[in-house]
Amino acid sequence: MQWRNLLKKNINSISALPPALQPDNEEAARVVTRYPMRINPYYLSLIRKKQDPIWKQAVPDIQELNDTVCMADPLGEEHLSPVPNLVHKYPDRALFLVTSQCAMYCRFCTRKRKVGTKSMVISQDTIEAGLDYLKKTPAVRDVLVSGGDPLLLDDDYLDWLLASLRAIPSIEIIRIGTRAPCTLPMRITTRLVKVLKRYHPLYINTHFNHPLEITEESSRACTRLADAGIPLGCQTVLLRGVNDQPEIIQELLRKLLMIRVKPYYLFQGDMTRGTNHFRTSIECGLDIMRSIIGHMSGLAVPTYAVDAPGGGGKIPLTPNYIKEFGEKLVFSNYCGLTCSYDNQRTENRGQKTEK
Ligand SMILES: *Cc1c(COP(=O)(O)O)cnc(C)c1O
Ligand code: SF4
Repeated sequence: MQWRNLLKKNINSISALPPALQPDNEEAARVVTRYPMRINPYYLSLIRKKQDPIWKQAVPDIQELNDTVCMADPLGEEHLSPVPNLVHKYPDRALFLVTSQCAMYCRFCTRKRKVGTKSMVISQDTIEAGLDYLKKTPAVRDVLVSGGDPLLLDDDYLDWLLASLRAIPSIEIIRIGTRAPCTLPMRITTRLVKVLKRYHPLYINTHFNHPLEITEESSRACTRLADAGIPLGCQTVLLRGVNDQPEIIQELLRKLLMIRVKPYYLFQGDMTRGTNHFRTSIECGLDIMRSIIGHMSGLAVPTYAVDAPGGGGKIPLTPNYIKEFGEKLVFSNYCGLTCSYDNQRTENRGQKTEK
């Protein structure tokens, strides 16, 4: 079925869910007045039963309304926006929000405060203000087109938007952040891909969280994109009760490589209000990384990162392999074996990195 027609059959309320998939707590119905719900028929078809990893990502939970720990805008995006819907946090790259819509509203979304709601106002005016800002800010070399999900825009509009970005000479790389290959793979049509491949170097970072999301359809979508020369990355979020176990993440990473998607980030859950019940401990993430590094293909290893509250940016977190750091570097390898390396501290210091 055509993706537009599929989206007309979205489930937007608890009562529209098949009875067997409705949450036990009837109060969950209240959640959707604050945080919108949208499950398209494709993503719905991946749910096998209540409380499974797909169900948890898509179906509202009353705990979303009871979160007293987290913040509306933990990453300080609003105060880092020189114009609405454009976040300029790092010197050479900017995040450009071009739609408020997604094919499915993830319950753990970082921009839960606004994605899919009326408070996220995106119009031709805000898009043009964003383009203007990028024209006037040549320091930005890498534009991350996001939202919402940019691939919910029509082919023709995307064509115009990408052409407008490409017309700015200082922009070297265009990146699209989209969950469509996972949540609505039929969006990746041959026509769309024909549009996208005209704007190279174009990268896509998609977002899979669980091996059950890697299906024949999503595999076909990623193959089409990869065949068009678009490098694909994945930004996975560590989610309690969904993928917070080494075996699950390992299987996910392996399956991603098989569909030519390079694991890019594994994110610690942001402190976004309404998502506290999804957060894991940092130790959990570090244990998972420890189970991957050295044990799996280096291609499979993402950077585990926490996006610092307040807008500090992404901080990479790595298990500690170092035991002593001095004349000798003493460390343990991936299987726990102790090794050492003679440090050339005195001779080398300053030769390369310091003046
Ligand atoms: C994540 C992010 C980027 C891109 O960061 P990379 O580490 O280059 O992937 C850019 N801007 C903002 C605001 C971001 O949150
Ligand atoms: S697809 Fe991305 S932006 Fe949209 S709801 Fe999910 S996490 Fe949020």
